[in-house]
Amino acid sequence: MTEIQYDTLYIDGAWAQPQGDDLIAVRSPLSEQHIGSVPRGTEADIDAAVSAARRAFDDPEGWSTWSPARRGEVLDAFATELEKRGDETARRVTIQNGMPTTVAHGIEAVFPAILVRYYADLMRGGVADEVRPGMTGGSTRVVHDPTGVVAAIVPWNVPQGITFLKLAPALAAGCTVVLKPAEETVFDAFSVAEAAIAAGLPPGVLNIVPAGREVGAYLVAHPGVDKVSFTGSTAAGRSIAETCGRLLRPVTLELGGKSAAIVLDDADLSEHSEAFFSATLLNNGQICWLNTRILVPESNYTAVVDSVTDMVKSLKIGNPLDASTHIGPLVSARQRDRVEGYIAKGRADGFEVTAGGGRPSDLDTGWFVEPTVFVGVDNSATIAQEEIFGPILTVTPYRDEDDAIAIANDSVYGLGGSVWTSDPARGEEIACRIRTGTVGINAYSNDPWAPFGGVKASGLGRELGPEGLRSFQNVKSIYRGA
Ligand code: NAD
Repeated sequence: MTEIQYDTLYIDGAWAQPQGDDLIAVRSPLSEQHIGSVPRGTEADIDAAVSAARRAFDDPEGWSTWSPARRGEVLDAFATELEKRGDETARRVTIQNGMPTTVAHGIEAVFPAILVRYYADLMRGGVADEVRPGMTGGSTRVVHDPTGVVAAIVPWNVPQGITFLKLAPALAAGCTVVLKPAEETVFDAFSVAEAAIAAGLPPGVLNIVPAGREVGAYLVAHPGVDKVSFTGSTAAGRSIAETCGRLLRPVTLELGGKSAAIVLDDADLSEHSEAFFSATLLNNGQICWLNTRILVPESNYTAVVDSVTDMVKSLKIGNPLDASTHIGPLVSARQRDRVEGYIAKGRADGFEVTAGGGRPSDLDTGWFVEPTVFVGVDNSATIAQEEIFGPILTVTPYRDEDDAIAIANDSVYGLGGSVWTSDPARGEEIACRIRTGTVGINAYSNDPWAPFGGVKASGLGRELGPEGLRSFQNVKSIYRGA
């Protein structure tokens, strides 16, 4: 495979020489070999990127002052350029993080352009300013100003989908952005830069600096930044929230999860096997909202355990570029070590494994871990409480609905969740009682038009839907006397 190589960074609308000499080298999770490199961004590169974004935002005739229609024209062109590069972008994601190609095509190739068009349209049509009558006469006009320069920091697991949860509404609102991709997934970010150049995004509106966490922390605290939008681990989110608290800087945090799939006694999982797989194991178990705690009624325990075990055993593990693959390699050797540590912990705590539990015996290279099912797991166990971020499921029995809801809510996290039932109305009643940001009935998937985000240690704020736009706007009241 030809190596992917970039020598410059996308700053101020053009390819800029990096200020440092270091490179970010990327290894394939499949071959474990070097597959290319890009410049490692430094604090000086962040300074240049923030200055460019600041200038672009503060320009009295610039992006932030344009009408939504004028910005929309450029964003439509941006969406078209992203679509043109969709196949290559998806391939880049797969070769960097092991995401199965069918998943990459949906979330990484197609979804970003959908979001860009959605938010451009929303600004053009649906979020008009409002005029309210004043209590003692006169009126107030409530307007929504773009928040300013946005620091967008994203993880490696769904690099493009997550980038555009931030970029699409921020740019549509009139903000300018400094994007810091994760070190593991950098090549796809250069596809975005190429699309931005081809679409004619004005200089400074978008700047991209791939770098590590220290440089990320520098960006968060940078005096030129007005808003931080972060997706990643809860530990990093806490540290970012502390900085933003000290600076009184608005912040959106999309963090970790450990969501529950409640299987009701009337459910027939065989009717929903594809949806159940997606809700529990999509992207090799490396998605924050995955429903990795499966709660099963004691009355139907053996049958459901058998059905989950059979589903997991039937999955095809292998090359993520092969369209028939369900489970690819994990992103890094470090991530595999971490996941294997949890498998060892689950075994040491005495829980039975009914599927998987090791590395696939027929694959010599690649950071693979078999999809694994632990059964009879007490919800207080480490493997039921901590986010593993790999293809590991726990099955926990419950007595009745109240018990199921109590177990689902017994988590520091609250991001996703699902209810599986032949009676969707009953499922919805239960969904209402789960303390979480999102829940699915007989399926789980993020809808672009619906708010997504977490409660408790899963985060602050919402992305997607009109709510996702609001998080890049300041509300201002303009009073007019009678
Ligand atoms: P991570 O927190 O280590 O890194 C995420 C990004 O933040 C990277 O770009 C990293 O360089 C940067 N970063 C790390 N520490 C930072 C700091 N102190 N200041 C500024 N930037 C910092 O997370 P990860 O291991 O790369 O990603 C996996 C985690 O992300 C999981 O916990 C997962 O649940 C979470 N995640 C959450 C969502 C969501 O929407 N809630 C989506 C995807 C992933």
